[in-house]
Amino acid sequence: MPIQPSSQPLSRFKNPVVVFSNNYLPLARIPLKRAIVLLVTERAESLELGTTQQWEVRSPNLVLQVSEHIRLVGGHRERHWKVPSVTRREVFRRDQHRCQYCGSRKQLTLDHVIPRSKGGPHSWDNVVTACAPCNNAKGDRLLPTTNLALKTKPKAPMHPVMAFAEQFWTEHPPD
Ligand SMILES: [Zn+2]
Repeated sequence: MPIQPSSQPLSRFKNPVVVFSNNYLPLARIPLKRAIVLLVTERAESLELGTTQQWEVRSPNLVLQVSEHIRLVGGHRERHWKVPSVTRREVFRRDQHRCQYCGSRKQLTLDHVIPRSKGGPHSWDNVVTACAPCNNAKGDRLLPTTNLALKTKPKAPMHPVMAFAEQFWTEHPPD
């Protein structure tokens, strides 16, 4: 469907629409086109939050008010997420590709905080991103016997909904 925005200026942002779950948690910012698809297929409805901005979108046979905030009616997204396996890729992603000891972004490896040889599990709270120099310096020892310290306590990645909500409410504190 060709989209002809009305005379109202479109938001400068690439992803101007915030999608909320059916229990009103902000989930993600999405492009206007995706919001239109969700609204037209009735998988989402407009959400009015006082200052909510609206865009009028016209196609040959449809005039649609697209709200800056839409809410999913259903909530399928939450059901399919599970904690990812402890892989190199997922651990690096959780740690934002930084060594958890010194912050370096180079020569990244996985480190078992409690070494496997000492019974440390391959689990989210025992595996961190470490650069090769820190990993070598630590060797097969327990942290307290080294002069390395973790920047953050490792834990399983958060449900993306919760992670987004946390960030969203940090940026948009409720009045
Ligand atoms: Zn390091």
